[in-house]
Amino acid sequence: MRDNCGRTIDYLRLSVTDLCNYRCRYCMPESGVCKCAHEEILSMEEYVEIARAAVGLGIRKIRLTGGEPLVRRGLLELCRQLRAIPELKELCLTTNGSLLPQMAKPLREAGVDRLNISLDTLWPERFAYITRLGKLSDVWTGIEVAEAAGFRNLKLDTVLIGGFNDDEIGDFLNLTIEHPWEVRFIELMPMGPCAGWEKGCFLSADEVVNRYPALQRIDNCGVASRYRLPGARGTVGLISPLSHTFCGDCRRIRVTSDGRLKSCLHSAAEIPLRGLHGAALEEAIRQGILQKPLRHHLAEHPSDTPRNMNQIGG
Ligand code: SAM
Ligand code: SF4
Repeated sequence: MRDNCGRTIDYLRLSVTDLCNYRCRYCMPESGVCKCAHEEILSMEEYVEIARAAVGLGIRKIRLTGGEPLVRRGLLELCRQLRAIPELKELCLTTNGSLLPQMAKPLREAGVDRLNISLDTLWPERFAYITRLGKLSDVWTGIEVAEAAGFRNLKLDTVLIGGFNDDEIGDFLNLTIEHPWEVRFIELMPMGPCAGWEKGCFLSADEVVNRYPALQRIDNCGVASRYRLPGARGTVGLISPLSHTFCGDCRRIRVTSDGRLKSCLHSAAEIPLRGLHGAALEEAIRQGILQKPLRHHLAEHPSDTPRNMNQIGG
């Protein structure tokens, strides 16, 4: 369906947990998050009910996210049930990749169509630093296992952080020469732990094209502007929520793991969905879509949402 600004809303991001086995410095506090009481988190039945209602209103793509979605128990059964919704065209998942070595094949068998894997650096020591708990080799193994399981055209998501990984842009671009992957550079958004980071950390994704003018523009894909190095098998995506507000092209709504509908990542407005069923649930989602804000205000001040990114799902 269309929102009040005429945008078609057909993409739902479902967060299945706030918990994560990493503690990326820009996303989560080092102490992690309090483990919520079981009953505060949506059950698998509730996720399926919400997804069905959303698909009834025109959602055609669902992305599972978190926290780290692969730590959520019952995830595979949820994937199977979502995949069985007839009108759903695409079931995707965003992961830090660490558990893909054991989970990629079951995820594929459960019906997940596409994977985005977050990877901020190609240096093992930097990876351990930024994730606080992660090991880069786990993610590389996860990528190999995902490809062997049949996941094609993987997307690698890299948050561009000035002074941390901007000297690796060329190495990331080089990955696309050999591999049919999309390497996507995402601008760091000032929220949660990184809201107060110094200005130099927040680079414009334009830096990528400025430094590598050989990149050829291809098209736009969702909120990403896509490029390619001459002769490369893969592509490069630039996602610029700060420097080029793409709110006019945003087709997304989000549901948090505590059951609240967010029609804009950066707005504090949330609509509680828990306890709603049937027509009441559908009406709440419809209202959320209609009330989707025209744009965010990151250019003026940090995000309005009091949540950290792991409590929303990116
Ligand atoms: N744990 C999974 C992962 O890391 O892919 C899924 C959830 S994570 C919150 C989703 C995405 O949000 C990741 O690619 C992460 O790098 C990104 N992210 C987290 N905080 C961010 C921020 N402040 N600005 C931009 N991207 C951010
Ligand atoms: Fe976990 Fe993903 Fe946040 Fe990193 S970005 S702490 S992997 S939820």
